[in-house]
Amino acid sequence: MVRNFLLALSILLAAALCLGTPPHAGEASSLSRAGDLQAAQQNSLPGQAAASHPEQAPPVGPAPANPGATPQPTAPSPPPIVVLDPAHGGTDTGARGENGLAEKDVVLQIARTLQAQLITHGFRVVMTRSDDSNPSYDERAAIANGYRNAVFITLHVGSSGKIGTIRAFYDQFWPATGAVPSSSLPLVPGAKSAAAAANPGNLLISWQEAQRPYVADSQRLADALQLQFAQLFAGSPVTSSAVPLRDLRSVANPAVAIDISSIGAPSAESLLELSGPLSIAIEKAVATFQRGQAPSKP
Ligand SMILES: [Zn+2]
Repeated sequence: MVRNFLLALSILLAAALCLGTPPHAGEASSLSRAGDLQAAQQNSLPGQAAASHPEQAPPVGPAPANPGATPQPTAPSPPPIVVLDPAHGGTDTGARGENGLAEKDVVLQIARTLQAQLITHGFRVVMTRSDDSNPSYDERAAIANGYRNAVFITLHVGSSGKIGTIRAFYDQFWPATGAVPSSSLPLVPGAKSAAAAANPGNLLISWQEAQRPYVADSQRLADALQLQFAQLFAGSPVTSSAVPLRDLRSVANPAVAIDISSIGAPSAESLLELSGPLSIAIEKAVATFQRGQAPSKP
């Protein structure tokens, strides 16, 4: 019963993210994505998140500036690689607006703009898709997992909410851990997951568990983003939210979902205009996140 309740709750929450639908007002159009989540949660994939992937992409964009010969007490760490994930694609159109806009197209356009702007400002950026394809959740995650120092940002455009507001989410594992922060999960040096910590002989982790040891960092990144959104996009909340997100579950790096309101905008251009301040928000939030970064992973 409890599991069924949590499953139902997770479906509603996931629908609220993907389609911008408040948890108390589910709608039929949200069921496809909820179905994806349900299927993903019921079918634990074998394998390991650290496995090599043929689609691992090399870093794109200029390398971070070399501090050169200027003597400094400590060399600044390069910014993390930003992995931009335009959600949906192909036959999965995502949310659709009455004006004909399709979420899969809008998020791709926004991601392309963000990519260009972030590269201009010295970031290295990788896209999980650059066309109308629809990689699986794990294929998208594998791209991010190919990098030790990366942040994963999946982009959605929901179907409700005040147009021009943006929300940040991080993954909530269920059964919900309640007041137990993920940062309290034991970690074995060299291991990448709590599961591996529990079984030091096996450093391979389930795709379904990949995000678990990173949830605290993901929350920190989501909070940093949400603070920027509150300042740059009036009406946005000031704190991020946790929901069970299959998009993020297989990512072995800090990972967040960004939900832009909304697909009901009068035109694609009115949503694309958000890309500029969104890029600034990402830059500032990643910098804040990096300053507070715990010692880098082994
Ligand atoms: Zn979506």
